[in-house]
Amino acid sequence: MTSDSAPAIAVSLPDQWENCHACDATYRRRKLSRGEKLCCSRCGALLAAPHVESARQHALAVALTGIVLFVLANIFPIMTFDVMGAKQSNSIFTGVRGLLAQDYAPLAALVFFSAILAPALYLLFGSYVLTARMLGRSWPWDFQAYRAMELLAPWNLVPVFFVACMVAVVRLDLLGTVTWQRGAVFVVLLSICCLILEQIRENAGQDSDARLRPRFDPRVKRQRALALVVSGVILYPFANILPVMTMTVPGDKAALTVWGGVMELFHVGLWPAGVIVFLASMCVPFLKLAALGWLLWMDGKSTLRRERSKLFGVVETVGTWSMVDIFLLSVLVAVGQLGSLASVTAELGALFFAAVLVCTIFAAANYSEQMIWREEKV
Ligand SMILES: [Zn+2]
Repeated sequence: MTSDSAPAIAVSLPDQWENCHACDATYRRRKLSRGEKLCCSRCGALLAAPHVESARQHALAVALTGIVLFVLANIFPIMTFDVMGAKQSNSIFTGVRGLLAQDYAPLAALVFFSAILAPALYLLFGSYVLTARMLGRSWPWDFQAYRAMELLAPWNLVPVFFVACMVAVVRLDLLGTVTWQRGAVFVVLLSICCLILEQIRENAGQDSDARLRPRFDPRVKRQRALALVVSGVILYPFANILPVMTMTVPGDKAALTVWGGVMELFHVGLWPAGVIVFLASMCVPFLKLAALGWLLWMDGKSTLRRERSKLFGVVETVGTWSMVDIFLLSVLVAVGQLGSLASVTAELGALFFAAVLVCTIFAAANYSEQMIWREEKV
């Protein structure tokens, strides 16, 4: 989302000169020909892409479609679970209500925020900012809305929610009959909208409006990120040792840890779902903590800057997929409430697991690519 008409950012630089948003190197903005992109020669970050206006039009169309789909996805049920004639259907909010009923308010809040509130605000703020830019006007609070959209981007987890629904279906299929409902189609389409919107945002290059640059205080950010990574490392073993849920079916009651859930899926031959849960729930949080720890340890050093920059990009992209297990729990809690026939309850391990995820997401949000490229150590 670049702004052609926005004022130049550096007071001391002529109009066509600007600073790279990632490494602060100075470059000259110029008109790009078809298919050409302007990348930073120092850090490789995308600075400007042509056809910004058409990209904005596409993004606005996708965002407005996303708002309609969001409403539909939250009205219609996603799936129905049927065991010996007893039926239970669920929408996205049913999982939130189920977790609240089991006194797991922090988990309910996390699911509500990342599957409902953050996507809704992301789409609304996005539409607002894009409409203002399309009309070439500065609307009240438009730059705050843009910043809020950037902050909400890692929490817009509708696509992850849908993957969790698919894993939930294969798991529930072992206990009864699961039927997809109309809401699932809207969740899929909404997921596609969110992914396209994020892709357009990333491919648009940097915004040249100085007001949109986050204020950067490396010392505070580094300390916060370090504290969050250390907290995540301390909580990680508890998230894996303690059970995250108890599944009760006639004649069987099993408390499952994250690893236990993976082994159960492998055991019954559902290895694709097992691989997804294993990668998302065990590998991603561990690797994210390790990668952020290494990035913070390397902070202030002048070596491997491009590699660190790429690694941080990967951490930001794949990091949120570990929410699969929490969403899976919310779906299972929502539909697996059939009294003596089947029930699913959340356990303490899920709280630790969610805490690890929150620590890693906030740690990544506090780390900044600019920290890699600045010259002095703080
Ligand atoms: Zn750069």
